Amino acid sequence: MTVPTTLAIPTKAARLGTLAIEGAFAVAAAARALDLAGREVIHLELGQPDFPSPSHATAAGIRALEADDAKYTAPAGLPELRTALLGYVRGRGIPAELDNIVVTSAAKPMLQYALLATVNPGDEVLIPNIGFPIYPSAVRLAGGTEREYAIELKDGRWQVDFDAIERSITPRTRAIILNSPHNPTGWTATREEMERLGRMAEKHNIWVISDEIYSGLAYDYPDGASPSAAAVPGLLDRTVIIDGFSKRWSMTGWRLGFGVVPKALYEDFVALIINNTSCTPPFVQRGGLAAVEGSQDVVHALRKSLHERRDRFVAGLNSVPGMTCALPAGAFYALTDVRALLKKSGLTTQQFQSRLLQEFGVAGCPGTDFGAAGEGFVRFSFATAAPKLDRGIELLTKAAKELGG
Ligand code: PMP
Repeated sequence: MTVPTTLAIPTKAARLGTLAIEGAFAVAAAARALDLAGREVIHLELGQPDFPSPSHATAAGIRALEADDAKYTAPAGLPELRTALLGYVRGRGIPAELDNIVVTSAAKPMLQYALLATVNPGDEVLIPNIGFPIYPSAVRLAGGTEREYAIELKDGRWQVDFDAIERSITPRTRAIILNSPHNPTGWTATREEMERLGRMAEKHNIWVISDEIYSGLAYDYPDGASPSAAAVPGLLDRTVIIDGFSKRWSMTGWRLGFGVVPKALYEDFVALIINNTSCTPPFVQRGGLAAVEGSQDVVHALRKSLHERRDRFVAGLNSVPGMTCALPAGAFYALTDVRALLKKSGLTTQQFQSRLLQEFGVAGCPGTDFGAAGEGFVRFSFATAAPKLDRGIELLTKAAKELGG
């Protein structure tokens, strides 16, 4: 029998070509390779606080596993966790009830479910540019088309022009994705801006998909509590909130998220969960339950520390010749303007970021990973310890001198 040497395989699905990836993971892999080669690397690439998971969450997760709480469970989430989350979101001023709350395996699937639940093929969805790269992917996977709106640097502050957004609405616009506090700029919507969003959504009858994963990390608000879209009177019924445990509870690897969804879509979200994961692992949910119900000291300490790190790191960045950084109002990213250095060096944003990593040992993400409007910017996460941030500034100063000439 002859064995053919080149067997053709079936063609791949076209939709794969529409998927973005999160560049931060690629930078993290390149940075890790340098770590392994024994090089000094300051890791400012991933959106992940350096705080451990709350110890009471870890203990509850372990206890649950030891008790074999590791079987299928309710698709919408453990009733205890949903009840605890209900208390949490009500604390944010959201007039939710239990059948507004679903638990998911992290925020990312919740984002995908939100688009699958609201968008038909051919529909348009407004997304921020600059913004989280998974938004256009999720829109396209649902068969929709993204239309971008700007998050702009004006008078030294990141701003969103809601009048301009409203002008870009067409009869095919089905939803808007808002992200406040925003990755990667830190822009944080005020209550008035959330109300403006609400009026627009009602007038044009569109869904609001509000990614609030960084809520609780807004530095101008008591307890970091940035306004929620679903707290705007009347908006809960047309709003899907995406949230989770990754950021303010520092539990990225647990892959635990949740959503606040309109009651009219609750059963549909449950159906989406059943079709995808069946349920979120119960021992993971037990950890989450302990995180929500237990002491919030860790959350307060995290926020306080991020606040201090923000002030220190952004001041440092602004002292680097050729770099400027607007103070982020929330989240934990310093989106840094390096256009002056690109001009002097003739490098592209990506080349610049790559040389920062390979030659100077500072890992950040090129702004272009977050859309075309990120050209000329590099994102550094400041969710890392102050001595590392200080060392990062030293290395960036060296890089600016050598690359900027
Ligand atoms: N939304 C935004 C804006 C994010 O930055 C991230 C994480 N980088 C997520 C959603 C996803 O969070 P999770 O870890 O819960 O999937």
